[in-house]
Amino acid sequence: MTNIVLFGPPGAGKGTQAEFLKEKYNLVHISTGDVFRYNIKNGTDLGKQAKVFIDEGKLVPDEITIGMLEAEVDKNKEAEGFIFDGFPRTEAQADALENFLNKKQTKVDAMLALEVDDEVLVQRLLERGKTSGRVDDANEEVIRKRIKVYYNETAILKSYYQKKDKYYGVDGVGSIQEITTRLSEVIDKL
Ligand code: AMP
Repeated sequence: MTNIVLFGPPGAGKGTQAEFLKEKYNLVHISTGDVFRYNIKNGTDLGKQAKVFIDEGKLVPDEITIGMLEAEVDKNKEAEGFIFDGFPRTEAQADALENFLNKKQTKVDAMLALEVDDEVLVQRLLERGKTSGRVDDANEEVIRKRIKVYYNETAILKSYYQKKDKYYGVDGVGSIQEITTRLSEVIDKL
């Protein structure tokens, strides 16, 4: 089993790259942001709880997010591995993921981090906002808030995985294919 955490600030290209990597390595892609948006669209209780945080660019509380992620993993009993996209985003989530995977006799093999400058992120997200229909991409203030939340609450996970020798930084600027190649070079060596 190969389990990869795809990491990086909003707009780094995690979702785009996950789509290619899941095909190439036969992994199940779980994007917590996508699961939240699906629930919001369908008006579930989970969606209602999450929406208030998401629309403001804040993180959804750990209790809600961790339970949801674990349920998604458990839906995929036959999986050969997972790409976690947008999870973990806090140390509590990283600890929960480790314990959860331990119980299943598996682990996170690597955190692959897409590195992109902040101003490039803002421009990419504003561009995406023109077509994504995402409330949180439509407004520059919310975009900047999300990037700030990333540095304040999520970026510490770099040292979390570095300490475990599992952190791999990858240049996230270039063509989609170039970046897939860079990520694949790391995965192939795992
Ligand atoms: P994303 O699609 O990954 O950019 O996520 C969109 C939004 O969903 C984030 O700004 C958060 O509000 C929420 N979200 C997604 N994943 C998480 C997570 N692991 N922990 C907390 N909130 C999350």
